[in-house]
Amino acid sequence: MPAYIDQNGYLRNAETNELIHRSIAREKYGYLSPEDQVHHIDRNKLNNDPDNLMILSKTEHEIIHGKNELVNISNKIEYALGSAIIKSIEYIWKKLHSSRASKSS
Ligand SMILES: [Zn+2]
Repeated sequence: MPAYIDQNGYLRNAETNELIHRSIAREKYGYLSPEDQVHHIDRNKLNNDPDNLMILSKTEHEIIHGKNELVNISNKIEYALGSAIIKSIEYIWKKLHSSRASKSS
């Protein structure tokens, strides 16, 4: 599949212009709404290994990247609290996903 890196550093399908990590996430999880955001777990935008991708809401995604105001405030109070919140979200998401996967298989 011909691909190129866009100005934001993401790989896109050269024929459809679709973001490749979004199509891979849709294929892996079987769903992806336009509001869903796809997160690269290792923070490498070019690592589109299916296991490196997770589907998050905008708020969850902002929290993980430290862009959410509430978490930023808590980070200022105590950094450990912020990272505990991030870990919980990742943990809960993985739990949810593994139960979803076992139900559908
Ligand atoms: Zn992300």
